[in-house]
Amino acid sequence: MLNRAEKLANIIEQAKEVHIVTHNDADGLTAGAIASSSLQRLDKTYTLECVKQLDRNVLKRLKDEDHELVWFTDLGSSISSSSPEIKKIITDHHACSQNAEASFHLNPHLFGLDGSVDISGAGLTYLVAKQLNSKNIDLSMLAIIGALGDLQDRKDCRLQGINRDILKDAEEAKMIQAQLDIRYFGRETRPMHKLLQFSSDPFIPGLTGREEACISFLQDLKITLKDNDTWRKWIDLNKEEKRRIMSNVARLLLQKGFSHKTARRVIGEVYLLRKEKKGTELHDAKEFATLLNATARYGKAEVGINVCLGDRDKWLKQARSLLRGHRHNLAEGLQVARENGIIKRDFLQFFHAKKEIRDTIVGIVAGMLLNSEDISSSLPLIGFVDTENNDVKASARATRDLVDQGLNLSSAMRKAAEVVNGVGGGHNIAAGATIPKGKEEEFLDLLEKEISIQLSN
Ligand code: C5P
Ligand code: C5P
Ligand code: ZN
Repeated sequence: MLNRAEKLANIIEQAKEVHIVTHNDADGLTAGAIASSSLQRLDKTYTLECVKQLDRNVLKRLKDEDHELVWFTDLGSSISSSSPEIKKIITDHHACSQNAEASFHLNPHLFGLDGSVDISGAGLTYLVAKQLNSKNIDLSMLAIIGALGDLQDRKDCRLQGINRDILKDAEEAKMIQAQLDIRYFGRETRPMHKLLQFSSDPFIPGLTGREEACISFLQDLKITLKDNDTWRKWIDLNKEEKRRIMSNVARLLLQKGFSHKTARRVIGEVYLLRKEKKGTELHDAKEFATLLNATARYGKAEVGINVCLGDRDKWLKQARSLLRGHRHNLAEGLQVARENGIIKRDFLQFFHAKKEIRDTIVGIVAGMLLNSEDISSSLPLIGFVDTENNDVKASARATRDLVDQGLNLSSAMRKAAEVVNGVGGGHNIAAGATIPKGKEEEFLDLLEKEISIQLSN
């Protein structure tokens, strides 16, 4: 892989002007920021754009624009063997065929690795940046944020594969500190009872979704909830208080019949950005990734890119305000999906939110639902929404257990979508598709068939 990265770096060095095309999520933004910084440091002329997906319109426009070199980051694997008119390099981790034209394509799937856990789009872009100049090691921090944005720490409750080598770089550059702690979201910014209330992976029976119960639970453990009238956050607790809470959460899970494996998931590796202020959304790499998603998924990628590039002023302020909207939309999205009803079939379950959830966040909503107490996690979950272009977007999410049993959502979604004249792809555990409106039933039949074949092999 490093040889391939070096080849890509050579191609970049020979170009005067580079156009970066990246994906509109946290991994895409960090990938775009790594590419931008490394080009800037080489004094190259560059431009950057973020897109939802590489569809025909985008490809046609890129051809017409006739760039000297296009650098696709966190997307592009689908066009690896086509579009020879575009002079390009690709650093992407989405599933691709083994026959993909490879000389300009850096992708873990071409090297026998799993793009859903071993390395992200930002990580691959970082490998090229490091080949361009070893001083770019400081950009490893962005690659860690990208990997966490794509939930690559979920499998083992810590980063794995090449992500661990990148983590070593980030530690060496004194950018990131990894430590063991509670894995729930919001350690730095949420009052601690809220952290428990919004817990998922694993959810805590009796506490998740119940604010009053979380407050009583902490009071019973003799944890002081407020300090001078402000709610204490997880990071305000001392070691012994943290230990008391974590061991009692684990005990509660075991009492309710959950396995030791599940109870152990309460604790895992967390990643702190050493140069950021404690108690902000930027100090915890996972919260940083969420802040970036809150910009890119609302068409405000430039806000997130500027935060990645170091702005802590006007762009950060705007990102924070977008984050409030994002949180609100996720909460509303969860409610809409539940109200519209989750319909179970033999090999999958689905909801259709029509125009009530944005196509850019329906995947996050589906992922959160699949992790909740009241929804079965034994079937993959597909969320449908209508898009602005009068198509239907489908987002599919599954559990690691199903993937271990042979499920591959990427190929199932791609195949089912192609039959109904749509496009699809992604990862084994999380994939998406766009299909024509009205084709949902047919698509579900095809998808279900694919899934049943995968699980019976
Ligand atoms: O397009 P991209 O690769 O950036 O997105 C990956 C998607 O896969 C994310 O939406 C992430 O939430 C999802 N994912 C998941 N569970 C995992 C790994 C990734 O839902 N264990
Ligand atoms: O959009 P969503 O979050 O559901 O996407 C899940 C994964 O599937 C992402 O990695 C995304 O890039 C990928 N995807 C794809 N082709 C599509 C739609 C989504 O590769 N048409
Ligand atoms: Zn990605």
